[in-house]
Amino acid sequence: MSKSCRGLIGIAALLGVTLEGPVFAAEPFEQGMVTITLDDGWATQYTKARPALNARNMDASYALVTQALAQGWGGYMTTAQVQTLVAEGNDIASHTVSHPNLMTLSPAQLTSELVDSQSWLVNTLGLPAVPNFVVPYGYYDATTLAAIRQTYGSSRTVKGGRNFRDSIVYELRANDVHQRVAVSTVRGWIDQAAAEKSWLILVFHEFIDGTPVRDTQYRTSNFTAILDHIRTSGLPTVTLAQGVAMMEGRTDPDPAAGLPVYVDGMESGFDNWSWATHSLDETGVVHAGSTAIRFEPDAWSGLMFHHSGVDLSQYQSVELWVHGGTTGGQAVQLVLHDGSQWLGAVTLDAALGAPIAAGTWQKVTVPLASLGVTSGTLVDLYFMDASGGDQGTVYLDDITLVPY
Ligand SMILES: [Zn+2]
Repeated sequence: MSKSCRGLIGIAALLGVTLEGPVFAAEPFEQGMVTITLDDGWATQYTKARPALNARNMDASYALVTQALAQGWGGYMTTAQVQTLVAEGNDIASHTVSHPNLMTLSPAQLTSELVDSQSWLVNTLGLPAVPNFVVPYGYYDATTLAAIRQTYGSSRTVKGGRNFRDSIVYELRANDVHQRVAVSTVRGWIDQAAAEKSWLILVFHEFIDGTPVRDTQYRTSNFTAILDHIRTSGLPTVTLAQGVAMMEGRTDPDPAAGLPVYVDGMESGFDNWSWATHSLDETGVVHAGSTAIRFEPDAWSGLMFHHSGVDLSQYQSVELWVHGGTTGGQAVQLVLHDGSQWLGAVTLDAALGAPIAAGTWQKVTVPLASLGVTSGTLVDLYFMDASGGDQGTVYLDDITLVPY
């Protein structure tokens, strides 16, 4: 290790760099719960996972690719096997017709993948409805999400984390249990769900008795160890449908009500991907509510708030509150980014028309038109150091997109 590299680690340690996971506006359930989702309809789900589930009286949710069933793809379950799963009380979710990346499809193809898979499942399996959707690869954006909402009552992603009563039903979080995920890691997730009374959704693909040779394979004995830990923890296993039924049914917030980004934690499906030294749980300097954001705008580092996609044509401005700490005068740049390019940027002092003040909260309003942004999709919202140097601590609170 070079001297300069060691120096950097020393500085990071000195600054107390923290890596924070996403924070929710979390309404707990009555107790924690776990869902086993089995994606794509692999044959080993029937031959290896099903016996382990049945032996423990656990129902699962199977996310099926209908073309695999209709065309009898090798390595996948047959329609007759799926009918047995239904008869045994398991839950069926749609996972499209052909498992495409939804973001690459024409509008007609997108509709077909969503609608045709649902009607095939309803008709072939004799189900009253198939209201729940599982997003292939977890790839979606604002357009695909809007189409999913036309056809389904919920959709599950592979965004890691847990769900709460007030989570958005179209962006259900789920933890992918692929080959490299240790049983102890999954046990930790289950214990976390128990402690916070949240809903943990686990995703499995294929099963193998020996050593996995593909990322999507999971060792059967590790799967049963996970099921046993769920039993030991006392948490109920629920299907996707049962879990969704216990939620408040919150969809994406109505644009007319404004889109909060941060209130006392991340909101509206924004995730905290910040790399600067920061905290989302500052309690000493707060504008409103219980917490604010504390941020060290040093060495070009920044806060980064990530979303699956916000249609900016619905919003006229970004509003937030800023506090300059003990020093004031910090150079901090607000950047709107669509995932591939900058849509617009402005420094907070330019937006204020004055330097950021020390010792007080100031409201900042940034009309999107002033940045030349009248359309486009917001994916990442940044607050970045614009000095390149070492600046005093800045506090932010109540960040909102204001609708027309
Ligand atoms: Zn899949």
